[in-house]
Amino acid sequence: MSAIQSIFQRYAGQYLERYGHAMPAIHRKVIHAIDSCRSGDFGSHLYKCQACGLVHMVPCSCGNRHCPTCQNEKPRCG
Ligand SMILES: [Zn+2]
Repeated sequence: MSAIQSIFQRYAGQYLERYGHAMPAIHRKVIHAIDSCRSGDFGSHLYKCQACGLVHMVPCSCGNRHCPTCQNEKPRCG
C-alpha cells in the first residue's frame, strides 16, 4: 500500500463529505481509484503456481495514471 493510499483510506471519507461537493468529479474518481487500488473492488486474478499447485488470488490495480501503486502500467481486470 502506498502512503497516499493509506492517507485516502483514512481521511478521504471525511474530506469528501466536507469538500466533495466543490470538487471536480474527476478528482473524486481519482480518490476512489487510489483508495480502492488492489483492494478487490476492481476484481481479482487467480494464478496457479506450476511448482506447488497452489492458487493465488491477486487483486487488480485501478489503472489510474495518478495512482502511485500502478501508474497505469499494470493490467486492469475486465
Ligand atoms: Zn492503482
